[in-house]
Amino acid sequence: MTTTNKTTAMPATPPHRGGGWEGVFFSLEEFTYSATAQARYIENVPSAEAVRNLELLTENVLDPIREAWDGPIIVNSGYRCPELNKAVGGAQYSYHMKGMAADIRPKNGLVYKLYELIVYLFSTGQLGITECYIDRKRGYIHIAYDIEGFNTWPFIDPL
Ligand SMILES: [Zn+2]
Repeated sequence: MTTTNKTTAMPATPPHRGGGWEGVFFSLEEFTYSATAQARYIENVPSAEAVRNLELLTENVLDPIREAWDGPIIVNSGYRCPELNKAVGGAQYSYHMKGMAADIRPKNGLVYKLYELIVYLFSTGQLGITECYIDRKRGYIHIAYDIEGFNTWPFIDPL
């Protein structure tokens, strides 16, 4: 008798290789730095869990995007402690507070081109994305990666 042992398609949390930050193109500091936090004396320090989430966001989403983009990408905002999230007017249950989101923009200013690339990588199954949209007013792309929600981005082309 042959048995097939098919597992469900839900991705497991990738094994942690251990020994510090695993991001290639982005450093942890890029996700915790905030001019607003500095100006208001807010200590924007992520918990170990939030750091782990930032790492997953970097490894699984931001590093692959950066590699495909092949040019500098700036992190406008990454982790936000609740106080900072409030100070910048973030959503009440923002993924930023869990270390699962970043607002990014390409250094060359071609935000729509970068968004197109993200859509391409997502639609060809190269990335899991939970939230992604262009903030036109501020000129960046908000992108979130929740291992539980993974591929739930209800992609609607806003262009
Ligand atoms: Zn955001």
